[in-house]
Amino acid sequence: MTPRLFVVSAPSGTGKTTIVKRLVEENPGVSLAVSHTTRPPREQEQDQRDYYFVSDTAFDEIRGYDGFLEHADVFGNRYGTSRREVNEKLASGRQVILEIDWQGAEQVRRAKPDAQCIFLLPPSRDELEKRLRGRNTDKPEVVERRFSEARHDVRKWTDFHYVLVNDDIDETCRRMSKILKGDGAQYAVSDERHRARVEELIGAGDW
Ligand code: 5GP
Repeated sequence: MTPRLFVVSAPSGTGKTTIVKRLVEENPGVSLAVSHTTRPPREQEQDQRDYYFVSDTAFDEIRGYDGFLEHADVFGNRYGTSRREVNEKLASGRQVILEIDWQGAEQVRRAKPDAQCIFLLPPSRDELEKRLRGRNTDKPEVVERRFSEARHDVRKWTDFHYVLVNDDIDETCRRMSKILKGDGAQYAVSDERHRARVEELIGAGDW
């Protein structure tokens, strides 16, 4: 299979990191591009495995030589995908996943029109709130900010090629694997029936 670039975006708290991690573990032909960030590491996070944790100065330096394929400010920190990371991973012959926010996805769509963009949605507003509050890794004010932005980010799904509602991790991983294998047409945003189902699912409740 020709190595391709996939973008996975989701409102914070949807379960994106868990799903992408599992996909990469279960599929040797898939790799995750490690992003750069100026956010401080969380307790369990490791430099170069979870992120390249860098200073503002180092981030600016990479920006200065146009080293980022995309970059964005998210929740007051800066995040970016380096061109080098993506090119090296693609050259290794594997499918490459970028786990980035919707602003980054927009930039990738422009820079790499072949990239396939997948949006994950939480099953409901209540469920999203529960997941964010139950996380215990962020301060309360950070959780509040993430929740209010997540409610806004949910609306971005129609800009993507594929959309999945994460109501079951196993099922979402299975569907995502299908998309990665080029066999996920039934989850395309352009599929009227799928779109209607998703609208019904997330339409319920006050976002
Ligand atoms: P977190 O701080 O929870 O690890 O990530 C916060 C948000 O930043 C998530 O939506 C995540 O997908 C996004 N993000 C992580 N890396 C990148 C990146 O390289 N570029 C962009 N645009 N967003 C990123």
